[in-house]
Amino acid sequence: MARKIGLFVLALAMVGVLCGAALAGDTLADVKKNGVLVAGVKDSLPPFGSVDPNTKEYVGYDIDFVKYIAKKLGVKVEFKPVSSANRMPMLMEGRVDLLACTMTKNPERAKQIDFSYTYFLTGQKFLTKKGTVKSLKDLEGKKIGTAKGSTSEQNVTKAVPSATVLSFDDYPQAVLGVQQGKVIAATTDESILAGQLGKLEKNPATKGKFEIPDLAISEEPYGLGMRKGDTNLVKFVNDTILEMEKNGEAAKIFEKWFGPNSDSPIKRGSFKITADKRGT
Ligand code: GLU
Repeated sequence: MARKIGLFVLALAMVGVLCGAALAGDTLADVKKNGVLVAGVKDSLPPFGSVDPNTKEYVGYDIDFVKYIAKKLGVKVEFKPVSSANRMPMLMEGRVDLLACTMTKNPERAKQIDFSYTYFLTGQKFLTKKGTVKSLKDLEGKKIGTAKGSTSEQNVTKAVPSATVLSFDDYPQAVLGVQQGKVIAATTDESILAGQLGKLEKNPATKGKFEIPDLAISEEPYGLGMRKGDTNLVKFVNDTILEMEKNGEAAKIFEKWFGPNSDSPIKRGSFKITADKRGT
């Protein structure tokens, strides 16, 4: 009897392993064979991922990381737009090979997908009309905008429980909500808000009217997302990230999109990646 149960358990375990293998496959081998890496990215979220209106090409911090990885692999890249809410299903259903889309690594998400080492570190803040918000108290009982399916949505609900959180499809819509007075603040990662503030600063009608108060409610380490158990791709991507850190490419990309001469300058300051934060 015990032996029978043992065999049954073994058979079940094998089915489990086979299913897992079928789900993850070996994306690295497939990408090499097909000559193309399909990456899920944001398409209207500068400076991470957006489409240049002149060239119609995808540009941004996330885009540059994907391009470097593809170049190292010797394959072409195809970018597919994803939202915060649909990106994990897009990956798990095999519609993209990899996610590079301002995505925070956390244990809840890591149950469903695998993450690379941290390639960007930021924290959640607020974008408001100038002078309206000095502390979290000013947000109590107010309406705050963010995007569906994000950690921003979860964090703000915890940080300001009395607020009404309005979840839009994306962050530009939440920022529009601030401009129109529908919400007192838009909240998400500082790095994303910096891109939105940069756009407002470029427009003479909105220049000088908005700000990101110095109010952080979380730390957000970004990882590139891959299918669960896709070990060869995860290893390749992690090695590439370390190489980019060592050869200065990661710093160059940061300077290009967030440096003092960029449209969305931020200080690395307290959100700088250190060795102990690399794997978090
Ligand atoms: N980094 C946060 C997240 O992964 C907010 C940005 C986003 O929605 O992509 O949820």
